[in-house]
Amino acid sequence: MRTPFIAGNWKMYKTVSDAVKYVKEFRGLVKDVEGVEIVLAPPFTAIHAAAEAARNSNVGIAAQDMFWEREGAFTGQVSAPMLQEAGARYVIIGHSERRTLFGETDATVNRKLAAAYAAGLAPIACIGETLDQRERSETFDVLDRQIKQGLDGLTAEQIGQLVIAYEPVWAIGTGRNATPAQAAEAHGHIRKRLQQWFGPEPAELCHLIYGGSVKPDNIRELVSQPDVDGALVGGASLDVRGFFEIVTRSREAAV
Ligand code: PEP
Repeated sequence: MRTPFIAGNWKMYKTVSDAVKYVKEFRGLVKDVEGVEIVLAPPFTAIHAAAEAARNSNVGIAAQDMFWEREGAFTGQVSAPMLQEAGARYVIIGHSERRTLFGETDATVNRKLAAAYAAGLAPIACIGETLDQRERSETFDVLDRQIKQGLDGLTAEQIGQLVIAYEPVWAIGTGRNATPAQAAEAHGHIRKRLQQWFGPEPAELCHLIYGGSVKPDNIRELVSQPDVDGALVGGASLDVRGFFEIVTRSREAAV
């Protein structure tokens, strides 16, 4: 069985001092939680401080994005080795806000995934359809394209280590989560494609987590679904007690 994976994406919230205060409290709350991989993704500016505050705890730190080159004249960009040295162990790639607001494509996702692995960062790759695409019954086609192009060239071993976040765009930050049945259907489809395109073993190891308006009161039902191995949590991860609830409830649902 896959260990439940719960990640909090803080987006553009929290200063360095906010982040340190949160992590100090959170690590105390989760110190006895076993059997869940717990990750927090602060903004770039707070990664180092958050990683220091989380040192020797069961909380890992992620970046929310990265660039694929190691270094160079790329004003405003941050590379995977820089994140690694700052204390990040994970990186979110291809979040729908990056895709819709900042022009991210499956091709850029693909380059970033390769660079993350090369630097020893564990990527969390985001995929998911818009409302229009769902209403036109294109969900599976969109997911197929995002998987095929975004994960192109990754090895079976890398697929086995990958975390894929299925985040229907219409459910992100809207308060409208996918129903457990919708999540299970999409996750089942993704797992099937991974089996077909990368083989049964990596497909079995790969974590498929759900994202989109996850809260303490819906996490249990979502992670009880087959093939839903955890959650990527945005807004509800900003509150330390609420996120702790999400972690403990996902643990209970998984046992
Ligand atoms: C996210 O940012 O990945 C997300 C799922 O946001 P929210 O939980 O706020 O919908």
